[in-house]
Amino acid sequence: MVIVMRSDAPKESVQKVEQTLKDWGFKLHTIEGVEKRVIAAVGDKRRVDFGFLESHSGVEKVVPILSPYKLVAAEAHPEKSQVRVGDIRIGGDKLVVMAGPCAVETESQLMEVADGVARAGAHVLRGGAFKPRTSPYAFQGLEDEGLAILAQARKATGLPIITEAVDITQVERVAASSDIIQIGARNMQNFGLLRAAGRSNKPVLLKRGLSATIQEWLMSAEYIMAEGNPDVILCERGIRTFETATRNTLDLSAVALVKTMTHLPVFVDPSHGTGKRQLVAPMAKAAVIAGADGLIIEVHPSPETALSDGDQSLTIDEFSKLMYELVPIVKLAGKSLTNSEEKPDTRG
Ligand code: PEP
Ligand code: MN
Repeated sequence: MVIVMRSDAPKESVQKVEQTLKDWGFKLHTIEGVEKRVIAAVGDKRRVDFGFLESHSGVEKVVPILSPYKLVAAEAHPEKSQVRVGDIRIGGDKLVVMAGPCAVETESQLMEVADGVARAGAHVLRGGAFKPRTSPYAFQGLEDEGLAILAQARKATGLPIITEAVDITQVERVAASSDIIQIGARNMQNFGLLRAAGRSNKPVLLKRGLSATIQEWLMSAEYIMAEGNPDVILCERGIRTFETATRNTLDLSAVALVKTMTHLPVFVDPSHGTGKRQLVAPMAKAAVIAGADGLIIEVHPSPETALSDGDQSLTIDEFSKLMYELVPIVKLAGKSLTNSEEKPDTRG
């Protein structure tokens, strides 16, 4: 349940309510909003004395959360959550674009993409160091060497880094050397990994599983938040359907729906969502109109030689063109794209 405190409630009153909830065995997550203090309390509601709570002078209202995900639910947080990464705010009025190769392959490959996407106006650099591949014989990523190259690119461009932790043993290393931990679609229900990401002090981008329902996806976000990490970003990346003409079916209705169910920011990955380069730009634009808070897009200097996901990777020029084309669409969606008045590079 959520306890909304009156804006003029004295400190002692808040402390009394919090202590009482703890005595009833509740786990508390206090959210300090601009106007209100909201206490999200998770526990066994049979132990609650609603009479006490409702008659307490500092309490404005008590709202039960009926959904199985409590911290993730829209009711738990009256304002939309914003995830801060350096001076970037994810979930606010700016569309945030993360771009880069599927995998870090070499230093020169990553530096070239990093420079290209930074010039085009991307806000975050993506690149996999640990790759979850369908075949054990396929390129598995440069691992720690990949993390070191990403750190070098961050230094050179100033862009924060997002990279995936494929298993629990990598979480600390990924958290130490990047700015956002990515949990991939195949790991959406790896509960140990979710818990470990929840204990890290870095924002987590949680991709929707290949066959996950929206409820399962939100329950996975709850695992991360329940460990005390409020900085979760959801990412729709396509689901598996009967259709084989595209790699996945990008579920944009999920984006519009999830935005009403949760306060968390929602991203779209049109690269994995379609698997086809020519579909990335149209679906990126559609995602913005569907209400996405950001996009994560694969970009490679020469997609035909990419070690993974070349078919769905944009060239640097194609990405620059997309960023330019997105400007009026983002405006139409009530957001803006650039951090400054500066326009993205219009090459291509
Ligand atoms: C990726 O981002 O490169 C990736 C493997 O994504 P997903 O988990 O969505 O397949
Ligand atoms: Mn990929």
